[in-house]
Amino acid sequence: MEFMSSEPRFIVNNMLGTLARWLRMLGYDTVYDRDAEDWEIIRRAELEGRYIITRDRALHHKAIRSGVRSIYIPDTDMATRLAYIALLAGIKLYIDPEKTRCPEDNTPLIKVNRESVRGKVPEAVYRLYSDFWVCKRCGKVYWVGSHWKMIEEILGKAREKLGELKLKLTLR
Ligand SMILES: [Zn+2]
Repeated sequence: MEFMSSEPRFIVNNMLGTLARWLRMLGYDTVYDRDAEDWEIIRRAELEGRYIITRDRALHHKAIRSGVRSIYIPDTDMATRLAYIALLAGIKLYIDPEKTRCPEDNTPLIKVNRESVRGKVPEAVYRLYSDFWVCKRCGKVYWVGSHWKMIEEILGKAREKLGELKLKLTLR
């Protein structure tokens, strides 16, 4: 049963769409609903065992009062945001292509044969790369392309930041 899985799951409220995409890339089941009311977010988090991630202090405090786990995200860069979530919810700051989810719709990606994406990706990409993943829901094809360097750079910074945060806690 997915509910019993030990991997943390998240519900992210508006203003944090990019963060939701990152969590999905890292392989974490992440709901992002722009139009949900606070009570809907809190109820869903409770029912599905999700952490709330928000920049909304009122929602954060309501969640805590309701006994729902919530992480308030400070106004800072993506690497630091990810480091906070790693500290508080134990996410791993590495991308595992076998676990990664579609950043658009949260569906786990499936590795496919190279031949099957021919014509669905630019010819140059097809020639250059051998590993491809597909989202069954939206049909988007993914590969470890040039944007990978930027992703690895931010994750590297996040891991460094996590080290600093942990050190601060032990020195307290
Ligand atoms: Zn998709």
